[in-house]
Amino acid sequence: MTERLYYDDPYCREFDATIVRVEPRGEVRALWLDRSAFYPTSGGQPFDTGRLGPLAVVNVDDEDGDVVHVVQGEADLQVGQVLHGAIDWTRRFDHMQQHTGQHVLSAAIVHRYQVPTISFHLGAGVSTIDVARELSPAELAAAEEDANRVVFENRPVTIRYAAADEAATLGLRKASKREGTLRLVEVEQFDRSACGGSHVRQTGAIGAIVIGGWERFRGGQRLEFLCGGRAVRAHRQLRDTVGAAVRLLSILPSELAPAVERMQGELRQQERALATLTGELAAAQADGLAAAAEPIGTARWVLRAVDGDANRLKTLALTLVTRPGLIVVLTSTTTPALLVAARSADVGLPCDTVVKALVAAFGGRGGGRPDFAQAGKLDAAPDTILAKARTLAAGW
Ligand SMILES: [Zn+2]
Repeated sequence: MTERLYYDDPYCREFDATIVRVEPRGEVRALWLDRSAFYPTSGGQPFDTGRLGPLAVVNVDDEDGDVVHVVQGEADLQVGQVLHGAIDWTRRFDHMQQHTGQHVLSAAIVHRYQVPTISFHLGAGVSTIDVARELSPAELAAAEEDANRVVFENRPVTIRYAAADEAATLGLRKASKREGTLRLVEVEQFDRSACGGSHVRQTGAIGAIVIGGWERFRGGQRLEFLCGGRAVRAHRQLRDTVGAAVRLLSILPSELAPAVERMQGELRQQERALATLTGELAAAQADGLAAAAEPIGTARWVLRAVDGDANRLKTLALTLVTRPGLIVVLTSTTTPALLVAARSADVGLPCDTVVKALVAAFGGRGGGRPDFAQAGKLDAAPDTILAKARTLAAGW
């Protein structure tokens, strides 16, 4: 079994160790050492990266009680050979801040509300704990305050070992299912947990504990939290984002939510006004178009290209056919073209037939009902489409 240096000295960054086994694994190699400071993925905490001699350590796993290093790079490796190991300390120390911060936050929630933490995940960006019931924003703020007070008090975080039955009598935050000797991580007079993770020496090194957000999860709640450097970076990002928004609006950060609410109200008002004006404009335009309708066969045809989107074409066509005796074919002024066709109630010619004939001639897709039909992506200039419609109209 690998001697785990991080168990008793989580601040050990460099070490020498002897290779006890090497195994090729596809493009990479798995490496067993007699001792290691590399942390393997376990207990919610991700593995360490770093170097072993000339090799890059790209993954570390716990396999049958051994620490298995997955290494990348060219080097001759022999059993018995001594390698110098160096772990990526920035990554590891960040993990230590998050993990110890998690113990303190989970304990704060238990002390205040007797709500246990069900699971913990230390992510690359944010970490989460799942708690057994939903906590209100005020309850979360109080637990966050308690947790940070423990940080400010800079309490010692110590490691000790105890037999499982002895540990049970010491009072663990969460009962352990493990047997044999347990590794206990203690935050002085605040928390005692069975944990194999790597932790800071004193709570002050956590830096700060902030809850980033929460959501309902499996009958309880999932809390996002950030500690130390992550909390500082998250604050910086929030400051820059809010700063940019308040500068644009010339307001204070505290005025942001009411300002957005006010703008949403104004926008809704303007949308309503715009809809009214669009309707009025369509009515006025419809008067002009109806007056210029061309008598072809039994109906009067409005054949026009109109500047606007599908909604505008539709509104205008439907406004026109409130008058009697009209069949309306409108295209957009763009190519590929939009097309709508509508008819007055007293006209018999089916609009879907008109649209189908034009789609057959110019491509695109569309369809509809006898009283209204539309199509898009007709591959021809509007004038060409309308000229074709005029020719077809004469035959209907
Ligand atoms: Zn832990």
